[in-house]
Amino acid sequence: MNIIELRQKGILIASNNLHKIIELRQLLEPYSIPVRTPEELGISINVVETGKTFEENAKLKVEAFFSIAQIPTIADDSGLEVDALNKEPGVYSARYGKEGFTDNERNLYLLEKIKNVADYLRTARFVCVLAFKYDPDSPIRFYQGIAEGKILYQPRGKNGFGYDPIFEDIKTKKSFAELTLEEKNQISHRAKALQLFLKDLMLLIGR
Ligand code: IMP
Repeated sequence: MNIIELRQKGILIASNNLHKIIELRQLLEPYSIPVRTPEELGISINVVETGKTFEENAKLKVEAFFSIAQIPTIADDSGLEVDALNKEPGVYSARYGKEGFTDNERNLYLLEKIKNVADYLRTARFVCVLAFKYDPDSPIRFYQGIAEGKILYQPRGKNGFGYDPIFEDIKTKKSFAELTLEEKNQISHRAKALQLFLKDLMLLIGR
């Protein structure tokens, strides 16, 4: 793989989650590598996430999408680990609580579960594992990013998605939903994993 080939083919983001696509697209933009989405390529599959770890689920997704698209593909599996809940919801973050919950309902459900937990015990982290496959014979490469923080007592902020309004960043003390996309992309688990991916990609394509 070289940069010319990569710029021609682009990288497929193996996700139907528009928020993840927007974040990853913004992070990849400076590299002039076109970002393809399943929709643009006419791929409509829903990968059942049967894995017990972020790595297993990212692998399932990257393999499923790569086998159809046959272009360099990156998959993200991510979630929130809350220490007071034994690292739940973890890999079940997208379907925590009841089927069909809105993000807000899911956040309130989680807050209710830890309503009596003291501030200093409300530590949590977002984890993101990216899996990358660029040709049929290449092994899958993995990159992990972690963002440390705390679970708030009430949702705060309007930006982002998922658990962003109840997750307070350890450094800025803002909830992830109070950050702009640009600010979130400086510190998020997804951004950190993507930085590792980009470093590796530059080595892979000999730059
Ligand atoms: P996945 O699509 O199986 O990886 O599910 C990831 C789930 O984790 C999402 O649906 C969100 O609930 C949560 N999540 C992952 N990344 C973020 C984030 O950056 N902000 C808020 N929630 C996130």
